[in-house]
Amino acid sequence: MLIRNATIATSTAVFKGDVLVIESKIAAIGEGLSAAGIRAAEDDPGEIIDAEGLYLLPGGVDVHTHMDLDVGFTRSSDTFLTGTIAAACGGTTTIIDHMAFGPAGASLHHQVEVYEKLAEDAVIDYGFHGVIQHVDDGVLAEMDELAKRGITSFKIYLTYDFKLSDAAIQRVLTKALERGYMICVHCEDDGMLTSLRQQYLLEGFATPRYHALSRPSECELLAVQRMLALSRRVGDAPLYVVHLSTELGLEAIRAAKARGQQRVFAETCPQYLLLDDSRYDDPSEGLKYIMSPPLRKLNDEEALWCSLAAGEIDTIATDHCPFFFAAQKQRGKDDFTLCPGGASGVEERMPLIFSHGFMKGRLTLPQLVWLCCTRPAQLFGLGDSKGDIKVGMDADLVLFDANREFSFTKEHLHENVDYTPYEGLPQQGYPILTISRGEVIVEEGSFTGNRGRGRYLNRRRIT
Ligand code: MN
Ligand code: MN
Repeated sequence: MLIRNATIATSTAVFKGDVLVIESKIAAIGEGLSAAGIRAAEDDPGEIIDAEGLYLLPGGVDVHTHMDLDVGFTRSSDTFLTGTIAAACGGTTTIIDHMAFGPAGASLHHQVEVYEKLAEDAVIDYGFHGVIQHVDDGVLAEMDELAKRGITSFKIYLTYDFKLSDAAIQRVLTKALERGYMICVHCEDDGMLTSLRQQYLLEGFATPRYHALSRPSECELLAVQRMLALSRRVGDAPLYVVHLSTELGLEAIRAAKARGQQRVFAETCPQYLLLDDSRYDDPSEGLKYIMSPPLRKLNDEEALWCSLAAGEIDTIATDHCPFFFAAQKQRGKDDFTLCPGGASGVEERMPLIFSHGFMKGRLTLPQLVWLCCTRPAQLFGLGDSKGDIKVGMDADLVLFDANREFSFTKEHLHENVDYTPYEGLPQQGYPILTISRGEVIVEEGSFTGNRGRGRYLNRRRIT
């Protein structure tokens, strides 16, 4: 396959040129490339795609999704099939999914086996983050066993049912430091949010607004500071703060880095860059935005955008975890604590950051590529095959037409859910073609690949 005359955006440069794909890999990048010479020995002249006037980016790498997530009373509404088709339509070609908790006391292998089945129908390449819900000698040994199965990152929680103690977290971080694993952490302080929640419910405040008020910025700050202290205590263990949402949390990370903590990484998500807590004003519509952490203030959005451009935040992922508004989200209509938390984003992320980051001048294209493709792939052990346009890498590519203008509606999207949090947001630019390992899998918003074509990714350790 030869893609000609594209405006190619890598993590380091933007230039006009051609990309030659042979089988599943990028074989050459340059000007005036010819497929014919290389294909001369064969009858198949290959496919030629004229990309004049279009941007060619690496396929998106979304390292924070929750497909088919079991939350006890329901499941997130995208399966690995529908969710990865949606991802592909939005220009994302790799996901790393955060697994659900297993039964109390379960071995780390338990959920891996559950997820190997759940992900069988995935249409893009995928990996899993391990989930640690208790810590003992057995679990620490199982971390090494999972690494042999290609799982080199693990998620821990500071709230919810399986929150870990400081002692347990230090054991996990020490292990991660010794072996080169990444520890991902959901940073919200359980003590603060639990007491606020109880207080609001006692007083009869149960609308979505109180979801946000019970999880204030300080709740993230406390948890981020705690993790930074624990990581520092064990000798600067690799720490990845998922879905960072506040200026306060950001400042804490900045300060830790300035003091020499080199192995702290941060992720934010489009919802914390583009939506704010005024979405909770309407008690009915507010259910659509019940997620944790909650939507924040305009100053937080601004601080996060600035930190992306300054290179302080490492990645943009989504925390994609949709639930139907008409059915599942209504569980919380009289009590926000009963609402399943989460919203969609895997299909919207790349277009949103293209439009609201690049087209608006907040990010350059190489910065977008770095944040949405290259850096997430590197941090999670996929840097040699995914996330950039380089000879020898997987031919995961997406063509963007910067002239597509519209306002986001559910009708644009393929996610298995009845709304998008970004409804009505003006959009400038959209992906029109997605290529995964050299195969065109989306053309003009239609998925053309086969069910189950996605491959499980054996991920390396970080060094
Ligand atoms: Mn989370
Ligand atoms: Mn999550």
